[in-house]
Amino acid sequence: LQSVRKTYGKGGGTVVLRDVDLDVAPHTVTALIGASGSGKSTLLRCVNLLEEIDDGAILLDGVDITDPRTDPDQVRRRIGVVFQAYNLFPHMSVLDNVTLAPRRVHGVGRAEAEGRARELLERLGLGKKADEYPDRLSGGQQQRAAIVRALAVRPRLLLLDEITAALDPELVGEVLSVVRDLKDEGMTMVLATHEMGFAREVADQVCFLDAGVVLERGTPAEVFGAPQQERTQQFLSRIV
Ligand code: ATP
Ligand code: MG
Repeated sequence: LQSVRKTYGKGGGTVVLRDVDLDVAPHTVTALIGASGSGKSTLLRCVNLLEEIDDGAILLDGVDITDPRTDPDQVRRRIGVVFQAYNLFPHMSVLDNVTLAPRRVHGVGRAEAEGRARELLERLGLGKKADEYPDRLSGGQQQRAAIVRALAVRPRLLLLDEITAALDPELVGEVLSVVRDLKDEGMTMVLATHEMGFAREVADQVCFLDAGVVLERGTPAEVFGAPQQERTQQFLSRIV
C-alpha cells in the first residue's frame, strides 16, 4: 500500500485511512492491530477492492490494482477473504460452498473442483462434513470451512478479518491452528486481530493502526516488546 487514503461520507467527511504505507512480502504474515474503529477492516476491504480508495495506490505483484482500468474480478480471484462471521451460504452444503467459486468463476470442472475441495476439507479436519449444511457445524468448523472456501481458488493472498471474534473461546484454538499451518505452508496472509498472543506468535510483521494512521510497524518483538509510541504502549497495556 502506498499512501493510501480512504474517506467515508459526502465530500470525504471522515478520514478512515490516512497515508497508509504497508509492505507485505510474499510468504509472510502481517497482523493488523488497533482499537475498534482504527481502520483494520477498512484496510482489508480496500485491498480486496470492496472499497474504493481516495488516494494512493495498492499494488499486488507489482501491478496497481486500484488503477481504474484494472478488472476488480480479476484481482479478487487472486485474493481469498474470510470475515468474522456469516461466511458460508446457508442454503448450500459445505462442498457446494467450497466448489462454487472454482466452478463458476474459474471454470474448473465439477470433478476436479470437488476433488480439490475434499482434499482441503480433509486437511482442515472437515473430511466428514462435506455434505453437511453450515447450520449443522460448530462455529469453529464453519470458520474452517470458510477458510477452505477461500483457499479453493488457490489465492496469492489471504485476508482474514477477526476470524475468531465470533467464536466461543474453546473453538478459537482450532481456527488459529489452521492459520499456523497455512503460515508453515508459505501462504501470504494479512489478518486483523484482537488476539495479541496469537499476533505475537504467528506474525512476521505487526502493524498498529491508530485512527487510520500506521503509528507503529515492526516485528512482534519490536511492537510488543518495545513499543516506541505512547499510543501503542497505552493500547497494549490495556489489552495484554
Ligand atoms: P473493529 O476492531 O471494531 O473491527 P476496525 O479497526 O475494523 O474496528 P473499521 O471497521 O475499519 O475499524 O472502521 C474504521 C472507521 O470507519 C470507523 O470510524 C467506522 O465508523 C468507519 N466506517 C466503517 N465503515 C463505514 C461505512 N461504510 N460508512 C461510513 N463509515 C464507516
Ligand atoms: Mg473490523
